[in-house]
Amino acid sequence: MTQTKTDKLKEAHDRLTQAVESIVSGDDWQRMLKVASKFHNYSFNNQLMIFLQRPDATHVAGFNRWKSLGRFVKKGEKGIAIFAPCKYKTKIETDNGDEKTMQQIRGFRVVHVFDISQTDGESLEDLDAVRPKLLDGDAPEGVWEVLVSQANDAGFEVIRTQEGSENGYCDFLGKKIAVRPDVAPAQAVKTLIHELAHALLHSEIRPKTAAIAEVEVESVVFIVCDTLGLDTSNYSFAYIARWAEGSAELVKETAERSIGCAKAILKGLAHEESLSCRRGVPISKDDGTE
Ligand SMILES: [Zn+2]
Repeated sequence: MTQTKTDKLKEAHDRLTQAVESIVSGDDWQRMLKVASKFHNYSFNNQLMIFLQRPDATHVAGFNRWKSLGRFVKKGEKGIAIFAPCKYKTKIETDNGDEKTMQQIRGFRVVHVFDISQTDGESLEDLDAVRPKLLDGDAPEGVWEVLVSQANDAGFEVIRTQEGSENGYCDFLGKKIAVRPDVAPAQAVKTLIHELAHALLHSEIRPKTAAIAEVEVESVVFIVCDTLGLDTSNYSFAYIARWAEGSAELVKETAERSIGCAKAILKGLAHEESLSCRRGVPISKDDGTE
């Protein structure tokens, strides 16, 4: 029996799910979690404030928290201003006449936090124990151009620029997809597929969380690149595991949308006659059986 193309994409997604499962059950993952747990989870508003003031921030903590982690804030570093709730203890009387102490929030005050890049001291390399690695090498010929025209068809202009430390971004309002200019062709294609998938999947409806969005699109990347013969496992597996916060379940839940989007992108790529993948097998022009 011949294997349908959709089956092949599902099979790629299964391999992805298994890879994430094995990452999050490994030692590196545990070492990373141990250090990561020492950092505070900031509210959405504060995350936004941190991003606006320092877009490339990765790990943020207050002066004293850094001290307890064996690191110190470098001289002359300007803090990132965020809001901290002012908590007061008040005594209230319960229905049955008892007294109870409650914590109340009465307004906010500005406090300053610092990104890890503003600190020095003990190495926290365990934080990077599971880290996506940029791809090296060439991309399959002609793929970049076709992806750009797919982005154009979706109403997005593709530009080569970098803001902060991001590899790329998809600006839904400005209708722009950016890919950083200083990476190998393989990485550039990988990033373009990631941002194109955002454009195709999330222009109209945004998923409930950024985690869902990122898991969805990087799964698309893995499936599309796998079909093209471009191995993104060193990047995609860690990226997805981190965004999914170790939940292989989330990877499974997003399978249908990811596979559907991967299929659409591959279909566009297959329309280009001259395209062939590294394995030397031409991409099928339809999505029926091979
Ligand atoms: Zn993304």
